[in-house]
Amino acid sequence: MNPIYLDNNATTRVAPEVIEAMRPYFGERYGNPSSMHAFGGEVAADLRRARTRLADLLGAKPEEIIFTSCGTESDSAAIWSALRTRPERRHVITSRVEHPAVKNLAEWLAQNGYRVTFVPVDADGRLDIDYFKKHLGEETAVASIMWANNETGVIFPVEELAELCHERGVLFHTDAVQAVGKVPIDLGRSRIHMLSLSGHKLHGPKGIGALYLREGTPFAPFLRGGHQERGRRAGTENTAGIVGLGRAAKFVAEHMEEENTRVRALRDRLESELLKRVPDAHVNGDRDNRLPNTTSIGFDAVEGEAILLMMDQHGICASSGSACTSGSLEPSHVLRAMNVPFTRAHGSIRFSLSVFNSDADIDLVLEKLPPILQRLRQMSPFWKGPEQTT
Ligand SMILES: *Cc1c(COP(=O)(O)O)cnc(C)c1O
Repeated sequence: MNPIYLDNNATTRVAPEVIEAMRPYFGERYGNPSSMHAFGGEVAADLRRARTRLADLLGAKPEEIIFTSCGTESDSAAIWSALRTRPERRHVITSRVEHPAVKNLAEWLAQNGYRVTFVPVDADGRLDIDYFKKHLGEETAVASIMWANNETGVIFPVEELAELCHERGVLFHTDAVQAVGKVPIDLGRSRIHMLSLSGHKLHGPKGIGALYLREGTPFAPFLRGGHQERGRRAGTENTAGIVGLGRAAKFVAEHMEEENTRVRALRDRLESELLKRVPDAHVNGDRDNRLPNTTSIGFDAVEGEAILLMMDQHGICASSGSACTSGSLEPSHVLRAMNVPFTRAHGSIRFSLSVFNSDADIDLVLEKLPPILQRLRQMSPFWKGPEQTT
């Protein structure tokens, strides 16, 4: 099966170059990088190269990279470290639109003795910076704000937020899982203390992530044990994963320009043609300040899951804005935070592209999706015809 894959914010195809780079570590290069012998030492040298490649992508120093198992682990390690190294501070600031990797941890902290501020966003998904500023205080241990939102693609001004935190002695962490490889990042010139990323969101393998930790930032390890990662993350290294992530960093660096020109043009064509051909379709999120690969479109009076199922019959993979939580169909917390009208939130579809997409992929969606929406709306009790304005 060869899908029309437009769900790259969920996961990406592993680039063929990455697979080739990883292959030896499942075979003959099985040495342990911590071993004293040359056989292991060779693998240690390979890991150093991967670390440098990733650091180069971020404008960081190799020693500032800690390899982890995924984006979620990096997020948790960063936030827990801030709380453990500054136990006298019991306040955390985050946003209302974070990925569950941060959101669910923040909610747990709020239920377990910490004070947590969830900064709101406006109708276009833009962060309320004044609110953020007002709630930064003496007891704030850490602020964690994503670089780019995974559902809408909206980009947050994290460098400016980090500067505000710096002035007040607050640690700043950003979940940059969606930003790395799509927007230029130069950590050497920023005040960001910690940044999370994930291999499988940038054409690397699943099961590998990294945490950037600015030199001099206090750190309490999430996993204690061996001395790997300079004692900051114990456990024998995922050698194939690390090499793959290093190669993926090189891949996205080489393709960032294409992502911002060709992929952006594909996204824009998909979006503008759908808005033209489908009545009562609306883009969710700030169209001017977005990742180049993402569009979230709300179709009034239809069920997102039904759209996905019918697109799936044509091999088209996308994602809905709503998540099935505890058996009840609730619209996504991101779209709710933006006050997207209820039936539009329910009928929202996220298309997320990559450099592996072509014009033919977009043509197919433009051929198949409008009739699907027309059929679903004919069956919808909420649909009052294209004259309705919401
Ligand atoms: C996918 C994603 C994560 C989680 O990364 P994993 O490697 O799957 O744990 C965290 N944050 C954002 C914004 C994501 O898109």
